[in-house]
Amino acid sequence: MPQFTDSFARRFYYLRLSITDVCNFRCTYCLPDGYRPDSRAQKSFLSRDEIRRVTRAFAASGTEKVRITGGEPSMRRDLTDIIAAINENPQIRQIAMTTNGYRLARDVVRWRNAGLSALNVSIDSLDPVQFHAITGQDKLRQVIAGIDAAFAAGFSQIKVNTVLMRDLNHNRLQQFLDWIRPRPIQLRFIELMETGEGSALFRQHHVSGAVIRDQLLASGWTAQPRQRSAGPAQVFSHTDYRGEIGLIMPYEKDFCVSCNRLRVSALGNLHLCLFGDGGVPLRDLLASDEQQLALQQRIARSLQQKSEGHFLHQGNTGITQNLSFIGG
Ligand code: SAM
Repeated sequence: MPQFTDSFARRFYYLRLSITDVCNFRCTYCLPDGYRPDSRAQKSFLSRDEIRRVTRAFAASGTEKVRITGGEPSMRRDLTDIIAAINENPQIRQIAMTTNGYRLARDVVRWRNAGLSALNVSIDSLDPVQFHAITGQDKLRQVIAGIDAAFAAGFSQIKVNTVLMRDLNHNRLQQFLDWIRPRPIQLRFIELMETGEGSALFRQHHVSGAVIRDQLLASGWTAQPRQRSAGPAQVFSHTDYRGEIGLIMPYEKDFCVSCNRLRVSALGNLHLCLFGDGGVPLRDLLASDEQQLALQQRIARSLQQKSEGHFLHQGNTGITQNLSFIGG
């Protein structure tokens, strides 16, 4: 079975797999009222065997990187076993996870031993009071302790996701830079994306990553080349810093040209784009190992429907009410 490719000749090396919709944080731009089970959640999230099968099918069609996301992946008690199941695929060279960091200090050694090779931790503010206000959890110190534990467990670089918000953190670049000067952290500013539920917040706080890029370029930072299974960040480095800065700017022209990612939700639907598609059900083909070829064929066929761009800049938020079920 050949490499997954769409009708615009984009190749897909990277799967973002959500394993739960549940989250214990209440980020203002995502789940301000906290996670509430809805009718979808009456169904169960993908089991470890289903996750093994779906990742095997992607691996057999050229996927070399899987990112585990959510919801908050560490809310799953069987997370370590899930990592180990994905790690059964030798073609998958990198297993990454995006987490709020709440359970890092306690569990990171187990996750690493099971095969986790890369970590993204979400931190929108280095000020404990502001962190609490944004996430609904007074946990900045615990999350930072988790990052220290991850370094101690052997991760050589950790990525930190920071949603860029006007007047909240866009004017605190120096504080972030001071933090990463001695630490091998790639801190990635993600432009706030407009979702169905987040329109008011978007109007108030969206600011282009270009404001950060201009400041970096003016103070001696240089842009790095991009690798083929890398995520969407433009990465900048500086000789005086161990850390790097990444910019994820989905509103920038041509953002989608280099798209190499597909998503599978915790209920087993294939999403061709973070924004605006209803999802192709895969779960009926995850019941037994014998269905693998049919599964690969369905994914390959669905890819022909992947559109060229997300048209976010034209105000399209599609059906995406928030990013908690599809993994941000
Ligand atoms: N719970 C995990 C976490 O906190 O990292 C993983 C899921 S979370 C949905 C993944 C990422 O999406 C986080 O870094 C989060 O900040 C980001 N995110 C969620 N909603 C967003 C939005 N409207 N705009 C930009 N980034 C968003």
